[in-house]
Amino acid sequence: MQLSNSPSDAAEQLTIALSKGRILKDTLPLLHAAGIEPAEDPDKSRKLIIPTTDPGVRLLIVRASDVPPYVEHGAADIGVSGKDVLMEYNSPSLYEPLDLEIACCKLMTAGPVGKILPEGRIKVATKFVNIAKKYYASQGRQAEIIKLYGSMELAPLVGLADEIVDVVDTGGTLRANGLEPREHIADISSRLVVNKAAMKLRHQRISSLLEQLKAAVIAKRQTEC
Ligand code: AMP
Repeated sequence: MQLSNSPSDAAEQLTIALSKGRILKDTLPLLHAAGIEPAEDPDKSRKLIIPTTDPGVRLLIVRASDVPPYVEHGAADIGVSGKDVLMEYNSPSLYEPLDLEIACCKLMTAGPVGKILPEGRIKVATKFVNIAKKYYASQGRQAEIIKLYGSMELAPLVGLADEIVDVVDTGGTLRANGLEPREHIADISSRLVVNKAAMKLRHQRISSLLEQLKAAVIAKRQTEC
């Protein structure tokens, strides 16, 4: 049985937690540079545990917001997670040793084009409840935060919220819905996160993977972020 906060299995495979979509697509070339290839295409496979060409490494396919708890509790040794997800999860017990400089975007407030915010308390829809609470408090503004799980852009269009807090890349999704970006909260990219116990118990294996990934990040630096 798995012990809480322990690495996945000190004697056996290194387990890396990843989410499908942009993070997976951008992480695979970095893993490739470190000699790790999934044994089957994670986008096509229904398997959630995917072996790799390196018998000492396996991949776990989890939801983006679930990467931090998998790593924090030791079910995965390592994970790749967006800084937005890490800021929202806000755990002091995860190592974040490497910015992978992939899946870059910005965390922003946004609202209907040209519409001025009402005086006093505003309503803000977001999946980043903790980040939004902190941000509006830091601005000295009163905000009622409404937790949504997706399609945040809809909320101001139907009167659920005055503003949203969301990640913005090209701004195309905002524009398509009559919204405009307003305030910049943070620059976002994906980070490598490591379980603290795994970092101690499997230091050599994890450090050498970190070095290989760091070299791959530097090699492709000119194209990202
Ligand atoms: P865009 O229309 O290019 O501004 O993309 C915005 C939408 O794409 C957002 O609603 C996000 O759901 C998603 N998105 C874009 N970039 C990222 C990223 N790096 N991480 C997570 N979601 C993203």
